[in-house]
Amino acid sequence: MHSFDESTDDLAWKIFRYSLNRVRLDPPPLDGPRSPEDLYAAVGETITTEGMGGTAALELFTDQLAPACISTDHQRYLSFIPAAPTEASVLFDMVVGASSLFAGSWLEGAGAVYAENQALRWLADLAGFPAEAGGVFVSGGTAGNLSALVAARHGARARRDGEPTRWAIVGADTTHSSIESAGRVMDVDVLAAPVDADRRLGGPAVAAAIDAAPDGTEVFAVVATSGTTNLGIVDDLASIADVCEQRGIWFHVDGAYGAAGLAAPSVQPLYTGIERADSFIVDPHKWLFAPFDCAALLYRDPETARAAHTQHAEYLEPLTSRDDWNPSDYAHVLTRRARGLPLWFSLVTHGTDAYRDAIEYTLSVAAQVADEIEATGHLELVHPRVLSTVAFRRRGWGMDDYRKWSDALLASGQAFVTPTAVDGEAALRLCIISPRTTVEGLRGILATL
Ligand SMILES: *Cc1c(COP(=O)(O)O)cnc(C)c1O
Repeated sequence: MHSFDESTDDLAWKIFRYSLNRVRLDPPPLDGPRSPEDLYAAVGETITTEGMGGTAALELFTDQLAPACISTDHQRYLSFIPAAPTEASVLFDMVVGASSLFAGSWLEGAGAVYAENQALRWLADLAGFPAEAGGVFVSGGTAGNLSALVAARHGARARRDGEPTRWAIVGADTTHSSIESAGRVMDVDVLAAPVDADRRLGGPAVAAAIDAAPDGTEVFAVVATSGTTNLGIVDDLASIADVCEQRGIWFHVDGAYGAAGLAAPSVQPLYTGIERADSFIVDPHKWLFAPFDCAALLYRDPETARAAHTQHAEYLEPLTSRDDWNPSDYAHVLTRRARGLPLWFSLVTHGTDAYRDAIEYTLSVAAQVADEIEATGHLELVHPRVLSTVAFRRRGWGMDDYRKWSDALLASGQAFVTPTAVDGEAALRLCIISPRTTVEGLRGILATL
């Protein structure tokens, strides 16, 4: 198993060839799921005492399993949040995998951590964070939000005597489900503040929610969203920052999807106030063109996070007794892949202007398709477009109609567009993050409605 012999060499070239072809395909087949029974009939048991050999295993994957996975990087995959990794980032991900990098500590992964920190610094600069800011790449927005909130509560706890009856986070009713999930993990309450007529959370609603918290409940963090997943709405970050500052409460901005817009001058002013956050996240595996899985978590003052997250053990003393920058100290993680490196490599390769241009392009495609939807008689926008997400309705259709249409569209291989709901009413949603997505392609989808 652990020798590089002739058969390994043969397998290596087969794997390279497949990977290269997959990266080269434009577009890749959209593909789609199959039932467990169907897959079992086609694939059966794969793990045996003797092993089947690399070539047969690779064929199982390429012929049966890979086609049962939707190609998230397909230009007409417009559901949820798609993926649009650059060629450079995907190819470099192979290098990361081949190098057995341990990027939890400086001692073990200094070179990788140095590079990751440069990518984090670019993001910190986009947000206007100070020179002392720092953070870590984690697996996703869910992990990033949780780690930030754990740090926030650690800080609040350290500042008070004794425990409140309950700890609480204030968010909007439009806040991402991962905040509710963090609340469950941390056993803290999530208090929902109403959004305004523009569907934005603002300072007055946050202040009212804090005031309305039950006796004995202490609010330790406010979560604003800079680009809601459903509609791309950016909360009024500046007025929320005011409230957090006045009350000494940690201000966290969830920009998992939308904070990439900081790199686009046309929407950058929407984010005013993020520079006053205590922490924010942005997922490079979404609108910053990195492969899965990669979320950047940044802290204004990393020291609180370090106090909250550093793991201590006898065998870890060689790491924790040094004054090094250890990425694992800043999140709920110990062993970690250098998952920021594909983003770093692509940034170094292409330069940040290319990122600005790619994001601006997707914004312009979203703007055009929103205009075209408005111009039809039978389609209507649910909310004016803000970022690269466009939500709309087909007049007269309900959830069943959308579901049937969506299934048929995927089965035809044309596109993957799933329904959502806004204010309890079914709608469709196009999330456009791929620089390969064209207005023409979207027009073709609208024509089927
Ligand atoms: C996608 C998303 C998340 C969750 O991120 P994962 O990487 O899927 O864990 C959190 N918040 C917002 C606003 C998101 O769009």
